[in-house]
Amino acid sequence: MHIQENLQHIKSTLPNHVTLVAVSKTKPVNDLMEAYNAGQHIFGENKIQEMVEKYQTMPKNIEWHMIGHVQRNKVKYMAGFVSLIHGVDNFKLLIEINRQAKRYRRVINCLFQIKIASEDSKFGMTASEASEIIKSEAFSELKNIKIIGVMGMATFTEDENQIKKEFTLLKTIFDSLKSVETFNFKPETISMGMSGDYQLAINCGSTMIRVGSRIFGERN
Ligand SMILES: *Cc1c(COP(=O)(O)O)cnc(C)c1O
Repeated sequence: MHIQENLQHIKSTLPNHVTLVAVSKTKPVNDLMEAYNAGQHIFGENKIQEMVEKYQTMPKNIEWHMIGHVQRNKVKYMAGFVSLIHGVDNFKLLIEINRQAKRYRRVINCLFQIKIASEDSKFGMTASEASEIIKSEAFSELKNIKIIGVMGMATFTEDENQIKKEFTLLKTIFDSLKSVETFNFKPETISMGMSGDYQLAINCGSTMIRVGSRIFGERN
């Protein structure tokens, strides 16, 4: 694998306002260290246990992003160190993240995962669900979380037009939510785009891409 070359290639094509999350799920620490030594300090994992293990063995100036579906009872394992939780798709989960963050005297940054794909299997909330949460009294009491934007996953399809439509939808939803700003809702990030579609995502307004196989090679 040419992890360093892959990284350099991707980075050379990214506009300054786009953050690269290196998605390292299933990959061994040696591979992550190769990326780390090439200057990549933001990693994305989709399983909490695996992220905790890598966190424990790797340098402490890494930003760890949880990009997968989060089970409430596992939030406690990452609450002490996670930098950004991409997949917040319900209010109960947010309450638990807030509760655990408070134990560590931290404020944990989160994204609302919005369902933009047509498939049933993709998690996420609707724009109106997100908007209702933001406007609720209960949300205004959560002092240990901050929602800094939205995340979405496009349908798994070859149809570029459909992917583009879904990315554009997420950008539109982000813009409409942006009209409100509170101390714990400061939208600035749109997390969309993966190995196969990140260029399209950037054209549609992405500010954060999550790239795995293009950096580390295919997963088993
Ligand atoms: C695995 C994963 C990615 C990266 O996928 P690649 O196609 O390997 O770039 C991005 N986002 C999420 C949520 C993932 O689970």
